[in-house]
Amino acid sequence: MVIMKFGGTSVGKPERMHQVSQLITRNTEPTLVVLSALSGTTNALVEISTALASPNKQIAAEKIAALEKQYRAFIIDLLKEETIRAKANEMITEHFEFLKITQKISLSDALNKDILAQGELMSTKLFSLYLEQEKIDHALLPALEFMQLDVNDEPDLTAIQEKIKGVLAQHPGKRLFITQGYICRNSRAEVDNLKRGGSDYTASLIAAAVKASVCEIWTDIDGMHNNDPRVVDKTVAIEQLSFDEAAELAYFGAKILHPTCIWPAQQENIPVKLLNTMQPTAVGTVIKKEAGSVGVKAVAAKDNIIAIKIKSSRMLLAYGFLRKIFEVFEKYKTPIDMITTSEVAVSVTIDSDIHLSEIIAELNNIALVEVEKNQTIVSIVGNEIAKTDAVLNKLFQAINEVPVTMVSYGGSHHNISLLIPSEHKIKTLQLINKGLFNL
Ligand code: ASP
Ligand code: MG
Repeated sequence: MVIMKFGGTSVGKPERMHQVSQLITRNTEPTLVVLSALSGTTNALVEISTALASPNKQIAAEKIAALEKQYRAFIIDLLKEETIRAKANEMITEHFEFLKITQKISLSDALNKDILAQGELMSTKLFSLYLEQEKIDHALLPALEFMQLDVNDEPDLTAIQEKIKGVLAQHPGKRLFITQGYICRNSRAEVDNLKRGGSDYTASLIAAAVKASVCEIWTDIDGMHNNDPRVVDKTVAIEQLSFDEAAELAYFGAKILHPTCIWPAQQENIPVKLLNTMQPTAVGTVIKKEAGSVGVKAVAAKDNIIAIKIKSSRMLLAYGFLRKIFEVFEKYKTPIDMITTSEVAVSVTIDSDIHLSEIIAELNNIALVEVEKNQTIVSIVGNEIAKTDAVLNKLFQAINEVPVTMVSYGGSHHNISLLIPSEHKIKTLQLINKGLFNL
């Protein structure tokens, strides 16, 4: 089976849905299509939820009305056949009826998740009606029947595997399936989600669950680039990455792929392809077990990083000191990204300030603590990067003028990470593009 995931912009306009319908009917193997909400919808639903939680619920009513208007117009463009158009309008009425009712009940976490789920529910139903109009045989599979979280709110791959088997068995002979990205059920059987941007994760989990031959992620850019095309002029698509390289790039800021979506594919050794809906014949990027080549491949940057410098003269030769520090971060479920040590100090970075004050208060009991906000991690990724000729020399020569705050090298065979004040990010990415990639 082939898994194909299309993001919000790939289905965000009626003509794009037409394009997607052509792409998904070319495969010789059975195909399962994962769709995001139409672009902008999830953001609008978040805004609706926020407004519902505020004293001024009128704002929610206005936002719901504006969103409904958008869907009504979409239907007119997408569906020409009267009976199918009527079905679509009826379906949209039901979903908006639900959104309107939410104004009358008090907002809970569970209701919030229900609201957020409407985007993917509507996009897949609209697309399914479009396929019906075009007489393209398919089945619409409800993700809420098989995308399952465990008690820790992590995807339960074994449960997903069993459930999806049962759901697919209800459609013998079908070769094309459509389902929702992002949405799932948690262990309390409530509607939940895989967090923002989670449709990639859905695709990768399903690919692992059905042991697909490939997991294709279709977006609006021709693969993963060597640098951030939004701030650097000359960037090139990377043809091949290993799972490890891709995971580092996604985690350290490459926007094209959700960082969590690598592990399920990696576990079952299923290649992930990043492809461009607007340019379907471009080769894109393939992510697989083998890296394909040695050396520097890409650089990514992750903003909103907080550096915490922890200093203690008693740390000198003291075992157990690092454990005490890590325990504080563990207690507040705050992952550490980068870490460097000296004889008397440890510096770590985190990307969430939710528990920052509690963390600082506890660390203050065992050491002197300094905090620096507005930092950016710049990560240079490449297979066997350490073996690359004079890589550190070239890197530091290129960024000579940048005030680097931390350096992490040797943690893996494929990463060099630098911490810099965020104001120097664009310059740093540009300098690296010249100095390391010769672009
Ligand atoms: N629609 C969801 C979001 O915008 C999930 C996704 O697009 O991947 O976050
Ligand atoms: Mg999206």
